[in-house]
Amino acid sequence: MTQHVLTARQFNKRQLKQLFAKADRMRVVLQSPLLRHKLVDEHRGLVVATLFYEPSTRTRLSFESAAQRLGIGVVSTENASEYSSATKGETLEDTIRTVASYADAIVLRHKEEGAAEQAAAVSLAPIINAGDGKGEHPTQGLLDLYTIQREKGRLDNLHIVIGGDLAHGRTARSLAQMLGLYKGNKITFVSVPALQIGDDITAYLDQQKTTYTKTDNLIEAVKTADVIYWTRLQKERVSNPGIEAGFVIDQEVLDAMKNDAVILHPLPRTNEIHSDVDTDPRAAYFRQVENGLYIRMALLDSVLHGRAS
Ligand code: ASP
Repeated sequence: MTQHVLTARQFNKRQLKQLFAKADRMRVVLQSPLLRHKLVDEHRGLVVATLFYEPSTRTRLSFESAAQRLGIGVVSTENASEYSSATKGETLEDTIRTVASYADAIVLRHKEEGAAEQAAAVSLAPIINAGDGKGEHPTQGLLDLYTIQREKGRLDNLHIVIGGDLAHGRTARSLAQMLGLYKGNKITFVSVPALQIGDDITAYLDQQKTTYTKTDNLIEAVKTADVIYWTRLQKERVSNPGIEAGFVIDQEVLDAMKNDAVILHPLPRTNEIHSDVDTDPRAAYFRQVENGLYIRMALLDSVLHGRAS
């Protein structure tokens, strides 16, 4: 059966626990030349395609680095909107059918919400959704959750503040849904009304019986937060160019936060986290980047399990 990775909703707690344990092992393996060689031998001959129709730094390069560290070959198009047959009018479906015959898995980023599902419907190779418009970014959700586990030592009974452009930001949507799997979590969505989290996400949290509130009072929200997950204004997706999310993590916000809180951000950051914050031990966003490599190694290894032999 083809094992696609399309949405945060497809994971259960057991799968996440296994994946995080595997990511921990990848971290250890990379420190040992002997174990690295063994890992490469396990995946020799496999090929992953990264097909990106939207800009990316971390997601594409971390997937490609993860693949190569596993011993998997990579074929890639980083600007598929311009440099693939899409410019000649080829449909996504036909492109996917083609790439699936060259690769054992396809990592797809696309500007249209739902593109990953569309691709999965015709693909013989597993599709990994690396961001579909303002829809979802499940592998970012995985690395965010893994980072919370590492930083806080648990995934339940946490107060998580998720803020910024929640209307157009796909990472916040994926993370919020995953947090709903764990008992006792409380989510506070901080944004201006026009950029608040979508009703589809709050309806899902209602179903999961996860407590949440929406507010535009950042300082009040962070006072009791264990995790502050911050995001940028998604300029490429907002229809009103004058709109501002307007919230910045700066010294005043740091002063209001608990001493053991952590700040996460999927990156890239624009001006919504002041660079002075970077040296505060609570700033975990660069540790989060590193975790992305181990999670994507673990994910590729799981998705491609059994395909190398
Ligand atoms: N890199 C993340 C994404 O692709 C976050 C962002 O771009 O703001 O969604």
